[in-house]
Amino acid sequence: MHHFDRIDGALQAEGVPLEALADAVGTPAYVYSSATLTRHYGLLAEAVAAHPSALGEALIAFAVKANSNLSVLATLARLGCGADTVSEGEIRRALKAGIPANRIVFSGVGKSDAELAFAIEAGVRQINVESAVELDRLIAVASSKDARPEIAIRVNPAVGAGGHARITTGGATDKFGVPADEAHALYARASLSPHVTPVGLACHIGSQITTLEPLESAFRALRTMTLELRAAGLSVTRLDLGGGLGVPYHGQSDLPSIEAYVAMAARVLDGLEVEAAFEPGRLLAANAGVLLSRVIQVNERGDGRRFLVLDAGMNDLMRPALYDAFHDLVPVRPRQGEARLYDLVGPICESTDVFARDRRLPPMQAGDLVAFMGAGAYGAVLASEYNSRPLVPEVLVDGERWAVVRKRPSYDEMWEREPRADWL
Ligand SMILES: *Cc1c(COP(=O)(O)O)cnc(C)c1O
Repeated sequence: MHHFDRIDGALQAEGVPLEALADAVGTPAYVYSSATLTRHYGLLAEAVAAHPSALGEALIAFAVKANSNLSVLATLARLGCGADTVSEGEIRRALKAGIPANRIVFSGVGKSDAELAFAIEAGVRQINVESAVELDRLIAVASSKDARPEIAIRVNPAVGAGGHARITTGGATDKFGVPADEAHALYARASLSPHVTPVGLACHIGSQITTLEPLESAFRALRTMTLELRAAGLSVTRLDLGGGLGVPYHGQSDLPSIEAYVAMAARVLDGLEVEAAFEPGRLLAANAGVLLSRVIQVNERGDGRRFLVLDAGMNDLMRPALYDAFHDLVPVRPRQGEARLYDLVGPICESTDVFARDRRLPPMQAGDLVAFMGAGAYGAVLASEYNSRPLVPEVLVDGERWAVVRKRPSYDEMWEREPRADWL
């Protein structure tokens, strides 16, 4: 469900025609819909509020790594959304966007001492500890500050799931989290330290998960561990359920609904009297954004293969090259005529700079505008300036208004970041 619709034959973002945005901002450019972000957050918040006894004062913490634009974060902050962060930079962004520290969770498999110190000083809600060695380092850092941060132990429930092997995080061989059989001892050890307060358990098993079963297995593992820890006299008051729910990139209609997902979580947690936390990234942001691009030319080969050469490349949208991800491509103003097959490629000098093969599209010509749909999560955040292409800009739309919320750098601005060595 999103707010990118055709009006008089041409695609708009809410009340703003994409053709007008392309003229004003140039291409490629990401375009985000405030209404879609607001709608997705609202659906989740409403679903969570329907289960107050099972989920407690639940936190919804947007996974900042999915889309860390300050205006996107500020849009979510105004709605009351928290943040799931994985670096000092993300904590700083969340704070700058107006998300209070007590709604910020700090996760990640390799937090440096400096980052842990920063998180403690900032007063984040909770630090999710992912290993025994990290617990030792955190205790040392907290002790040097005479602090006592609240922590959760991130459990690896040995349930890997997700839309691609490269976005699975909860499998036994994945680098994330503490194996369930070690988590109990670690929790007990943390409880003995005067410099951390263990408050609960966390998990996050993967991304683009399209059935509830793996998530339910992981939540059940957290429930079992909670009961075991309590039986050993330890206090567990929060369960952080991670993110990972998939979105319909292919227009699928059989994905679990937000309501069904939350109801499942409530069923599993029922009676534990914990505060739940949800960490959606993709779910809130993916369908809130498109990548707008222009056709540079159409290359036709003698063998009939047709390449649609776009001005967006893998440096602007890396998901297809990185994990074979699918993005629907739609012409902003489709031409009349017989549909044809096109290979969608960018201008980058890499053979992985191919977005898709054999896509059926209306006839396309140089100069036509196209939009990659579902590009609001893990899109702009993964962009680079490879091939010395200026970093792709971002635009936020809200009804009939719009603003450039990350500028395309000029070439001079790019050179300024590279001071010349003084002996050259
Ligand atoms: C990436 C991540 C998320 C969000 O994952 P999505 O699939 O985008 O919902 C949540 N929690 C943690 C710890 C993460 O690393």
